[in-house]
Amino acid sequence: MPATILDGNTYASQIKSEVAEEVRRLTASGVRPGLAAVLVGENPASQTYVRSKVKACEELGIYSDLITPPESATTEELIEIVEQLNARDEIDGILVQLPLPAHVDSKRVLLAVSPEKDVDGFHPVNVGNLSTQRPALVPCTPAGCMEILKRANIAIEGQEAVIVGRSDIVGKPMAMLLTNANATVTICHSRTKNLPEVCRRGDILVAAIGRPGFITTEFVKPGATILDVGINHITDPVLFERFFKGDEKREKQFAEKGRTIIGDCDPRVVRMAGAVTPVPGGVGKLTIAMLMGNTVKAARMRRLTAVEAVAPSA
Ligand code: NDP
Repeated sequence: MPATILDGNTYASQIKSEVAEEVRRLTASGVRPGLAAVLVGENPASQTYVRSKVKACEELGIYSDLITPPESATTEELIEIVEQLNARDEIDGILVQLPLPAHVDSKRVLLAVSPEKDVDGFHPVNVGNLSTQRPALVPCTPAGCMEILKRANIAIEGQEAVIVGRSDIVGKPMAMLLTNANATVTICHSRTKNLPEVCRRGDILVAAIGRPGFITTEFVKPGATILDVGINHITDPVLFERFFKGDEKREKQFAEKGRTIIGDCDPRVVRMAGAVTPVPGGVGKLTIAMLMGNTVKAARMRRLTAVEAVAPSA
């Protein structure tokens, strides 16, 4: 039986409508969530990403502020911008769009973001809170993967989960979230021995590698759930043929545009898996929805406690 396709668009729109509802409720009680995006320079891909984030804010009723320092901005100038945003009460989330220019010390800039407003969940305080199961802002992509599993009613507790990739942004927080949800977790990386064999242990297999079509059927336990986080652009016709020969829709797209997007999994894994996220249209669709959710969560955690704290004497 072919795998169930876990449609990211459906989950993303469910999450967005829940977030919009909460924004309405919070705004009615005087706390309108706000997100500031810092976009440095003119990188076209970054401009596209930030534009979609600002648009999502508009759709959901979240206040947004876009700050666009020039490419020449120094580390100190960017830290100053972040500190000003930390001090603004109407800003609940601060997003510094990566990559920053090569001359900037990105780690120092990200560390300057107040953990309370760190909607990307990258700050060591949030990493620590997640790992010790305290309330935290959690990185958007792995948080989106968890939403897919929950909303698709895929069992996590007691299951074997194998994650390929150990980045701070995806692999490691994913491992923490699955551990907190009582899966038995294995993290793999470029030095892992017998990778296909280790991956075949996974009832849940998360691919976050950045290599087109790397995970083949040989890596998949029959019936496993596969979350394909990878987003890779291919332009090489030989590679295209290897993965998509006979797929008429893709062939038409490739002929017109000369490129297509593939995940870290070979599309043929659908023959072996029980459920799979497609690329495009899978995990990636949830990332912005989760960012919006984190902005609302940040507003709730920072401002509602303050309201409640003054309430008794009011
Ligand atoms: P990184 O490059 O930071 O990490 C890649 C990880 O994969 C590393 O841990 C690396 O191991 C491991 N790896 C690389 N090659 C192999 C190999 N041959 N065998 C086993 N492990 C390997 O990538 P990210 O985590 O940032 O991103 C991963 C993918 O997810 C990319 O395609 C990216 O575009 C995509 N992505 C998608 C998002 C979305 O919204 N859907 C958001 C973020 C990322 P080692 O540590 O040993 O080097």
